[in-house]
Amino acid sequence: MPNPAMKLASRVSRIDASGIRRIFDLAKSLKDPINLSIGQPDFPVDDKVKEAAVSAIRADRNSYTQTQGIPELRDLSLAEEKAHTGRTYAPDEILVTSGVSGGLFLALLALVDDGDEVLIPDPYFVMYKHLVRLFGGTPVYIDTYASGFVPTPEAIEKAITPRTRLLLLNSPANPTGRIVPADVLQGIAKVCTKHGITVISDEIYRLFAYGPCPSISRWHEDTVTLVGHSKSYAMTGWRLGYACGHKDIIQAMTKVQQYSFVCAPSIAQYAALAGPQVDHTANIAAYRAKRDLMVGILSQAFELSPPDGAFYLFAKVPGGLSGQQFVEKAIANNCLIIPGGVFSERDSHIRICYTVPDAKLKAGAELLVRLARG
Ligand code: PMP
Repeated sequence: MPNPAMKLASRVSRIDASGIRRIFDLAKSLKDPINLSIGQPDFPVDDKVKEAAVSAIRADRNSYTQTQGIPELRDLSLAEEKAHTGRTYAPDEILVTSGVSGGLFLALLALVDDGDEVLIPDPYFVMYKHLVRLFGGTPVYIDTYASGFVPTPEAIEKAITPRTRLLLLNSPANPTGRIVPADVLQGIAKVCTKHGITVISDEIYRLFAYGPCPSISRWHEDTVTLVGHSKSYAMTGWRLGYACGHKDIIQAMTKVQQYSFVCAPSIAQYAALAGPQVDHTANIAAYRAKRDLMVGILSQAFELSPPDGAFYLFAKVPGGLSGQQFVEKAIANNCLIIPGGVFSERDSHIRICYTVPDAKLKAGAELLVRLARG
């Protein structure tokens, strides 16, 4: 029974969790399904990272840290940025966050005013539009279906109005696996510079890149780059990431973190110092092979373009069914995937996550092909 005395803030009614919830409700009855819906790696946290976490606990590193993060991790992350993007940041241009979700929350809270428009290439990571709305902004979608899921500089410029404040970029992308190429990023940077638009660049999947993976921060100074440990180190529950950008933005985000998250989890921060000792080569090679396996089987019945990175495939449902209708068929056959409509204003596709053992992956892909053939 709803409590008649309870009055929720109106901002909460601007967001809803119904899309994903509906799928998980449908999936509740499944026993040991072929689960191609979970967006996280299936390899364990590296022993060196685990040992660093245990040592940190034993050494009583259990207190709050500085709001901006421990200096050793900030230094390490700045070195990582230099190596990945070639960009050098000052010490006050980085903030350690509670995952990329924490970074997105703080960046949008710090940058979006009531009525501001935020450009979001569609398909998009599900959190973006809800956070923008929560903070009073208006999501403006840039449909990328006709351009191979790459947002073009022309489409971005067309969507800009005097209220446009931000562009949210995600490369490699969830749910499409698309990496935005360097020449396109340079074009986007030009447009954003011309119109004074800040870019939030969500680079959580940049380790899982099966080719070059440039960052727009190289060409667009007014970028807030968000990097995460969740996927690279398979530590989704440890809640760690960082944000780099102009010091005024980072300071504003730090101020909000001080009164909200306080700091990212201390143990996770100390554990991440072991990051440089981790060899990711085998994990990346394994996901590339899984991608190839899936593309090989699924392209027999689905229209898809091979993803360049991350660990998702976004495939068009054949036969005029919506994403939701196809997912209901898959769930009836004990296979769990997500309808494209969860990540898009359209519902013509399905998202398949391929971080499961090969035998299950193959069984899942073959089942989806059978269902697609009707
Ligand atoms: N951005 C994207 C594109 C994601 O897919 C995810 C997780 N699914 C996140 C951000 C959030 O990740 P985390 O908060 O664990 O760093």
